[in-house]
Amino acid sequence: MGRFAVFRILRKRRWFPSSICASLTAAQEGRAGDLSTQESMSTPLDPKRTVAELKELRSLTSDANGAQRVAFTPTWVAGRSWLRGKLAALPVETHVDAAGNLWTTLRGGSDRVLVIGGHMDSVPNGGWLDGCLNVVAGMEILRRISAQYDGRPPVTVRLVDWADEEGARFGKSLFGSSACSGTLDMEEARGLRDRDGVRLPDALKEHGIDFERVRESGAELAHAAAYLELHIEQGPVLLDLDLPLGVVLGTVGVERHAITFLGQAAHSGSTPMNRRKDAFLAAARMGPEVYGIAGRHGGVCTIGSCITKPGIVTSVVEECRITLDQRHLDGPALARMLQDAREAAGRFAAEGGVGVSWSRLWRIDPIPFDADLLRLCDEAILETCGRSHRLPSGPLHDAAEVARAGVPTIMMFVQSLRGISHNKIEDTREEHLELCVRAFDRLADKAMAWIVGKGG
Ligand SMILES: [Zn+2]
Repeated sequence: MGRFAVFRILRKRRWFPSSICASLTAAQEGRAGDLSTQESMSTPLDPKRTVAELKELRSLTSDANGAQRVAFTPTWVAGRSWLRGKLAALPVETHVDAAGNLWTTLRGGSDRVLVIGGHMDSVPNGGWLDGCLNVVAGMEILRRISAQYDGRPPVTVRLVDWADEEGARFGKSLFGSSACSGTLDMEEARGLRDRDGVRLPDALKEHGIDFERVRESGAELAHAAAYLELHIEQGPVLLDLDLPLGVVLGTVGVERHAITFLGQAAHSGSTPMNRRKDAFLAAARMGPEVYGIAGRHGGVCTIGSCITKPGIVTSVVEECRITLDQRHLDGPALARMLQDAREAAGRFAAEGGVGVSWSRLWRIDPIPFDADLLRLCDEAILETCGRSHRLPSGPLHDAAEVARAGVPTIMMFVQSLRGISHNKIEDTREEHLELCVRAFDRLADKAMAWIVGKGG
């Protein structure tokens, strides 16, 4: 058993913290001798440059409260101009599509396209990594591919900066990618206004975008053979496992409902406990119940809101409306979670002598990512730092829209410190940022070979 095999076993048993993955990997790569030296000469991937450029972008587009690159605002435009300036050094073509997405194309030997995507826009007072990590790391990978293949890789490689992923100004997230995938509800989007009453179509017009034509951006995906997205996890799963990187299985399905229990208002002093029709009691019993449901099925359930009527201190509650949000990566499991919640609500209502009614607020099916790309992503992570983990994504991402459009898709997550995002304290260790650029680059290579192997 060689020295590296021993290291691998020790790491498997988690006797080494992930922080030493980087140095181990460097040592492992050194072992490859001539090949690795040759590779590093012709493939100048520079993950430290990605970190430096993210800091440069932060200094240009943040203030004391965090990142301010809200889509369709001057700071977002400034962020994009910075990006275009950097990309100008490469032998690429850049254009903005009908929905405002920025596409950068490195033409290859085949029309089949490997797409790498992210978003430069942020929420107000956002973090320094959400969205732009993907774009800036993607730019570094474009540089490496361009250098390695002398400007002409075997397949065409494109970097897309999706417009308005966050939906911070108009309340509609995934705008650019949903326009591109064809799922954008035009009726709904046409009527959206920001806080100052500006309509979405008017805001788009200021940026040269004709709202009525945004779905024409779908043509951009015509030759897309694979889509890769790197993102910070925005949660604590990898942090708790002490792992730098993970493979994203897909985005979870969501069921969102309002449940209203209807009892009878009655005086809080004169009504004996056994005579009450207490709508709040039935609703309150749902609290521990949904924790049990989530535990049984392996998803997550949240009661996020509770409103009581008449809502005064001297009355038994007549009406209690709670909201339920349930999420699961597996469609049938999500359906069972909903069924369990319905049965429990009915039972609590019957036992309490109150009525219950449901109304659906929103739902979306789970969107699983491509099985082949999932395997390649796992490999890329294992080769980079020895340990990998598969996890679903709670938040939706542009990748979900691309997958819905039928393009084989995968995402890679990098650990988030504190598991916090959409906040100026959002952060990831620099060594993990460098690792994710390395692993994502390997994934890009594997995906290109996969496309070629499929007749690309
Ligand atoms: Zn994001």
